[in-house]
Amino acid sequence: MDDSDLKKLIAEDADVILHPASSISALLSNGPQMICAADGCMIEDAQGRRYLDAVGGLWCVNAGYGRAELAQAMKEAAEKLSYYHTFSNASNPWQVQLAEKLLSIAPAGLGKVFFGSGGSDANDTLIKIAWHYHALRGQHKKIKVIARQQAYHGTSVSTASLTGLGGFHKEFPLPLDFVLRVECPHFYTRALPGEDEAQFCERLIDEIRQLINTTGAENIAAFFAEPIHAAGGIIEPPAGYYQKLKALLAEHDILLVADEVVCGYGRLGSWFGSPLLGLEPDMMATAKGLTSGYFPMSAAFITNEVWQVLKQGSDKLGAFSHGYTYSGHPVGAAVALANIELLEREGLVDKARENGAYLHQRLHDVLDSNPYVGEIRGRGLLAGVQLVADKAQRRLPDAGDKWPLKVSNAVRELGVIVRPLPSVATLAISPPLTISCEQIDTLVMALQTAINQQLAPLSEVP
Ligand SMILES: *Cc1c(COP(=O)(O)O)cnc(C)c1O
Repeated sequence: MDDSDLKKLIAEDADVILHPASSISALLSNGPQMICAADGCMIEDAQGRRYLDAVGGLWCVNAGYGRAELAQAMKEAAEKLSYYHTFSNASNPWQVQLAEKLLSIAPAGLGKVFFGSGGSDANDTLIKIAWHYHALRGQHKKIKVIARQQAYHGTSVSTASLTGLGGFHKEFPLPLDFVLRVECPHFYTRALPGEDEAQFCERLIDEIRQLINTTGAENIAAFFAEPIHAAGGIIEPPAGYYQKLKALLAEHDILLVADEVVCGYGRLGSWFGSPLLGLEPDMMATAKGLTSGYFPMSAAFITNEVWQVLKQGSDKLGAFSHGYTYSGHPVGAAVALANIELLEREGLVDKARENGAYLHQRLHDVLDSNPYVGEIRGRGLLAGVQLVADKAQRRLPDAGDKWPLKVSNAVRELGVIVRPLPSVATLAISPPLTISCEQIDTLVMALQTAINQQLAPLSEVP
């Protein structure tokens, strides 16, 4: 494609495309960011500028861009079986091989896999399975689902309802009323004066216990939790939270669903986040890193105990009546399997742990003393940098000042992509697991420069 063709496409973009999670007025005034190529950790725009993509697309390109063996796996599968459905017990060899592989690395207890096309549909599937599971056991009123403030579970009608970020509800009739909301488990922003972490944890669990008591456990189906909140601010609950939560939910026959759409497949330096954080899931949603973004695919996991109930239901009803046209897609399954094998062969999960430790060390070295940085969070190659207007008071900047956006734009000018999370004034980092220490240095220096450039002048008293 030559330059003039490309210029034309950039000009025409706004005429024909409604972009997801984007500002239409910004598109009309600035045009699109046209990305034309990518390799390793680098993306390249239409003007030929290259950027270190420290977000891995949308937290998903775990194996890095442009891996020839992943393209090859897709090509081979597409030539052999471009598509066939998996309804009515149709199957294909790729999905069986993939499921076997996934169950060999999945957290203990998970025994069956359901395939879909993305994170939202994986969570939709698990909401429906939770309902179905309880209904088949005669608990038809178990419908409510608990989710937390600052959670991100997707944007379908049901999962946008679970999502606890106000922007996804404004001027939509959401959240639907099956959702119950509880506190975000973020000590830094939510602790009461004088409260220590153990007391904070007790208070969070007490709130959930009270909610269960006032709502009635007979009305509650499930609790959804990202092991570490990603889009909501890279937030990890206090120590012991998930163990206490699980005990409480088990007591009331409420299923615990781990949304591992970001944490899964090596991001935190282990295959999944749940075992790392002491979260024992009854069901688990994954997508993103499953194929490193090369194909839209999700895998939702359930325990054999849940499956036994569905099986008895099917004996009665005839079919488990849920699924998608692209469930178990052979091309997606082939590339997911090749991706998992690549992560294994190159030791990228261990590398995420080791280089993740380096990333966090560098962030602390360079930003701990910065007056505009309040907290550095995350694990492995998932990190959040909390911006603060007043460090001593832990006061976040006003949303209207757009600090995260200003800093991330300045970082981009320096050739690095980080993701602004405006609802918590945080910058998110989630690079390909292949990122080198040298690239981590580049990223950290760009962040430091941009924060000083953008924020220091704002707070100078004239
Ligand atoms: C991205 C994301 C989803 C939604 O996935 P889609 O593929 O965009 O539907 C769900 N949960 C979490 C934690 C996510 O980060």
